[in-house]
Amino acid sequence: MLYDVAIIGAGPAGLAAGLYAARAKMNCVVFERLGEGGQIAITNEIENYPGAPEHSSGPSLTARMGEQARSFGANFIKDDIIGVSLEGDVKVLNGKGGEYQAKTVIIANGGKPRPIGCPGETELIGKGVSYCATCDAGFFTDLEVFVVGGGDSAVEEAMFITKFARKVTIVHRRDELRAAKSIQEKAFANEKIAFMWDTVIEEIKGDGMVESAVFKNLKTGEVTEYTADEEDGTFGIFPFIGFDPVSDLYKGKVDMDAAGYIPTDDNMKTNVPGVFAAGDIRVKSLRQVITACADGAIAAVQAEKFIEGH
Ligand code: NAP
Repeated sequence: MLYDVAIIGAGPAGLAAGLYAARAKMNCVVFERLGEGGQIAITNEIENYPGAPEHSSGPSLTARMGEQARSFGANFIKDDIIGVSLEGDVKVLNGKGGEYQAKTVIIANGGKPRPIGCPGETELIGKGVSYCATCDAGFFTDLEVFVVGGGDSAVEEAMFITKFARKVTIVHRRDELRAAKSIQEKAFANEKIAFMWDTVIEEIKGDGMVESAVFKNLKTGEVTEYTADEEDGTFGIFPFIGFDPVSDLYKGKVDMDAAGYIPTDDNMKTNVPGVFAAGDIRVKSLRQVITACADGAIAAVQAEKFIEGH
């Protein structure tokens, strides 16, 4: 089967591209690794996507986007694309489950949470360290939680975690949050939220579960260690310090900047003919659901034009 468009990634950019490609009667396929959603699947509440119902969650929004694309005939395949050959008229994608061919490709792999990078963090993922409040906050019911970061994600997710945890401390490397003022105000008014300013986590320790963490105050240089309450035995650490693009697959095949983001023109064209990029993986100034969807729509329309030889 030679698809008109192969879309790699099923976050908002990929799903919007699928919708537009399918509505244009192109034979399109959306590859999803785990399921629909991308980064937004781990977001508990979407307040800034125009028209999204109040309190709509990331997963519910993307589920509706997926259904909409399917209703117009977009194909979805659950496969992990691990190799690509993008030069030439026929693009070849190698997945763990098979090989696929397409006339055009839309790269919409998005990004993944950035780790703190301190000792103990990787070893204790899923054992107290988590990057997904929606997925894991429930495990910390009545326990203490530390959220790392000062952006929208850290502050919003910290508020969500207060529904479960006894106390949530936001650990931020500066003395001022980066999050939008409206989000900050809600956090400052939340009695369960405390702040550790000018502080970073230097090490996370535990034998099978997070048991303690070493904090450093960047202004005073003071190093302190927090150890889990004896009765609790453990506590949670949720880093929300930004994310990195998932672009290793395209290294040496598509131009990218030093951080791994893919530059495109206004029509989402990469430097490779017939290959487009959409969403958080692109070099851009605002990474939001609304901009990802817009990118996906433009990329699909441009893919159609490319096939028609315009
Ligand atoms: P972000 O805005 O880049 O914020 C990252 C935060 O982590 C910053 O406070 C940063 O500190 C801190 N940080 C970065 N590297 C660090 C390190 N190595 N150690 C300790 N702290 C570190 O990332 P985000 O919050 O994930 O948001 C990403 C994008 O999504 C943003 O454009 C955001 O507006 C958007 N977003 C929007 C919403 C919403 O509107 N509802 C929700 C979630 C995300 P500094 O402040 O000192 O740089």
